Amino acid sequence: MSKAVVSTLYDSDVFRMACRQFDQAADAINLPEEIRDRTKYPRRCIAVSLPVKRDNGAVTVFEGYRVQHNLSTGPSKGGIRYHENVTLGEVAALAMWMSWKCSLVGLPYGGAKGGIIVNPRELSPGELEHLSRRYMQELIGFVGPQQDIPAPDVGTNEQIMAWMMDTYSNHVGHICPGVVTGKPIALGGSQGRREATGAGVAYLVDKYLVDMKIPINGVSVAIQGFGNVGSEAALALSSMGAKIVAISDYTGAIYNAAGIDIKKALTYLQSERILKDFGGGEAISNEQLLETECTVLIPAALERVITKENAPKLKCRLLAEGANGPTTNEADRVLERRGDIEVIPDVLCNSGGVIVSYFEWLQNLQSFYWTRDEVIEKLHGILDRAKESVEYQKRKFKFGRRLAALTLGIARVAEAKQRRGLFP
Ligand code: NAD
Repeated sequence: MSKAVVSTLYDSDVFRMACRQFDQAADAINLPEEIRDRTKYPRRCIAVSLPVKRDNGAVTVFEGYRVQHNLSTGPSKGGIRYHENVTLGEVAALAMWMSWKCSLVGLPYGGAKGGIIVNPRELSPGELEHLSRRYMQELIGFVGPQQDIPAPDVGTNEQIMAWMMDTYSNHVGHICPGVVTGKPIALGGSQGRREATGAGVAYLVDKYLVDMKIPINGVSVAIQGFGNVGSEAALALSSMGAKIVAISDYTGAIYNAAGIDIKKALTYLQSERILKDFGGGEAISNEQLLETECTVLIPAALERVITKENAPKLKCRLLAEGANGPTTNEADRVLERRGDIEVIPDVLCNSGGVIVSYFEWLQNLQSFYWTRDEVIEKLHGILDRAKESVEYQKRKFKFGRRLAALTLGIARVAEAKQRRGLFP
């Protein structure tokens, strides 16, 4: 069987990492050669130039991407990241993980991801609005409720989703809330979406602690990244009785063995926008946070922070991957050899976000809105089933938990592609 002729378009550490995960999973389930490359590589990518008139009259051109990894199992779905280090390879890796995640938890979506190379903190609200509208305008031919449905990710939020929804709706001539998820409630957002990813992480942490026979009350938790995912996980876990001993953002980390007052940290963040000088504990670095002695460690910022260098030094019992791709392939091998840390892999751990995004899209398509309790109950049902299927796969084939989750996700996408056949 001849191999794919693949360009270097996506080549990067993070894309190679996602490919190695795929190869390992494909080998583990003996995925037929003829379906491997079709399943592995992104279907298409769109690169756009985004000129924005700045407040001072100058024009800056930003670069943005959208990668649609898989369109065989439904419209594609995935967040949009605004960050100065975005690359096409990173977006492609994140899109690939979205495919396995949606498939693992049984959503009728393929995976996608978008990104713009920009530090959003350096733009005024007006400039941010122009950039977001321009990005959606450029993507209009490629997105839509039945094509590709963006959502928030690092550096984007409900307001940005509102601008994008408005831009798309103006283009089609009527309100079209189902084109993006993670919108404000006033524009068709779902109850429970804002907190869904972090609350889902907390829900699974609680379930795994039960399996490990560790009572959640008083358990110590360290969280890297105090944005949407990290702060919501912190709130949910502290309401369950856990003690949050460390939090961080891009400016640094805070440690307090007695527990950090999460509500106070959030109030501080609302006024100051960064955690620096919050007090409430001892200032440490983001690297030190990862090596903090704690029961639960939650990376909830960016990829590839747990490496072969720091993996031997982790002092947690449970690693709950709120972020996408936080653990490198080499670090995975270290953790496997150590055998004393349970890992909830990203594709399962942070899937609460896309699950409630799916609920939001369903509500938009039906113009029929659910209560918060209905959302939470259905979210828990899907997370329970996904956890159960991962644990079954893990036991049956004696896989690590990441391999169990990835093989389930990948096998379903591959089967769908095989059943559809190859369009001549
Ligand atoms: P966010 O922008 O709301 O928050 C990101 C946080 O990480 C911020 O506190 C930021 O200061 C911090 N951060 C950035 N760079 C850092 C660095 N170098 N060191 C330490 N902290 C740093 O983003 P988010 O939506 O919370 O996403 C966080 C992670 O969760 C990402 O990996 C994202 O892909 C993943 N995720 C998000 C969602 C969602 O619904 N938002 C869903 C699934 C997965």
